[in-house]
Amino acid sequence: MTDYQVAIIGGGPAGLAAALTLSRSMMRTIVFDSPLPPRNDAARHVGGFPGMDMSSPAQVRERIAEEIKGYGYAQIKSAEISSAVPDGDGFVLSTQGGSRFSAKRILLTTGMVDIFPPIAGLNRLWGTSVINCPFCQGYEFKDRPWGIYVHRPEILAAAEIYRNWTRDLVLFVDPRVDVPAERAKEIEALDIRIVNGSIEALQSSQGALTQVVLRDGVKVDREVLLVWPHQTQCDLVKSLDLPLREGGYVEIDDCYRTGRNGIYAAGDLTYGGHQNANTAIHMGNMAAAWLVFDLCQTRVPEPA
Ligand SMILES: Cc1cc2nc3c(=O)[nH]c(=O)nc-3n(C[C@H](O)[C@H](O)[C@H](O)COP(=O)(O)OP(=O)(O)OC[C@H]3O[C@@H](n4cnc5c(N)ncnc54)[C@H](O)[C@@H]3O)c2cc1C
Repeated sequence: MTDYQVAIIGGGPAGLAAALTLSRSMMRTIVFDSPLPPRNDAARHVGGFPGMDMSSPAQVRERIAEEIKGYGYAQIKSAEISSAVPDGDGFVLSTQGGSRFSAKRILLTTGMVDIFPPIAGLNRLWGTSVINCPFCQGYEFKDRPWGIYVHRPEILAAAEIYRNWTRDLVLFVDPRVDVPAERAKEIEALDIRIVNGSIEALQSSQGALTQVVLRDGVKVDREVLLVWPHQTQCDLVKSLDLPLREGGYVEIDDCYRTGRNGIYAAGDLTYGGHQNANTAIHMGNMAAAWLVFDLCQTRVPEPA
């Protein structure tokens, strides 16, 4: 008999929401979560999370984990999965430490890995005054001096939206991004300043951003910088060779199935743009429901 009906790989909001729904469906489930800090660990709060708005990322996870444990159907294990190999009608999963587990289905909820631009001082301020999403962290900086790092053309297209949070806006346009003259006119007509050049460093005082420093020596006072890093999949997902959609996100169908039999996916690893905890919770819940549908076609009742 396989150890588990579902193995969830990744214990963030998507994986935990799935584990809760699977627990309430009496499915033997295991959640593997890497012992390394999760991607949003640098943030002090999870903003916009109903019922737990402004709790810390760790508090959100602990609260959901407690709820899962109360049902007794799902185990949460601190371990990184290094391989998942098809075996009969399921999979064998191996941890970095060499332990092996079997499961009929896999749900990938591994999130994404950020690729930070090479800007000195960015890592230190990431999650506090270098933010990646106005909906998540913008409220705390309303009406303050914002910078937007335009190192991807898509960011230019959305320039107007940031005026919702502040009218003191500077776009730092990296030389790799071309700003058509017409677009520059539109942006400047909205009193948004365009500064051209590569950002070299961020200066801070007492853990808060004070200045953005360009390679040509120009310094601009700012209290918050929005940086939307490029992302990549974790090594495990890369090793599975799943069909991907534009931007490198795992392609899923309406039932949260990937292009490989028995492997489902939910949360950040499946889409770019407006990634947040609420969407991850929704997707984890939906994926779990589809997994129950799937497993009920083949489920053999357990001996009494
Ligand atoms: C700095 C920052 C601040 C944010 N602030 C907010 C906010 O205020 N409000 C909001 O709603 N959203 C916020 N977000 C976005 C939100 O955190 C994500 O959208 C959400 O956590 C995605 O959930 P997920 O479960 O898909 O992935 P994650 O939360 O990224 O969880 C994935 C988990 O999988 C684990 N994992 C990866 N590979 C393996 C493996 N091989 N084996 C085992 N485990 C593995 C990771 O360690 C991680 O714990 C923020 C994001 C960042 C980066």
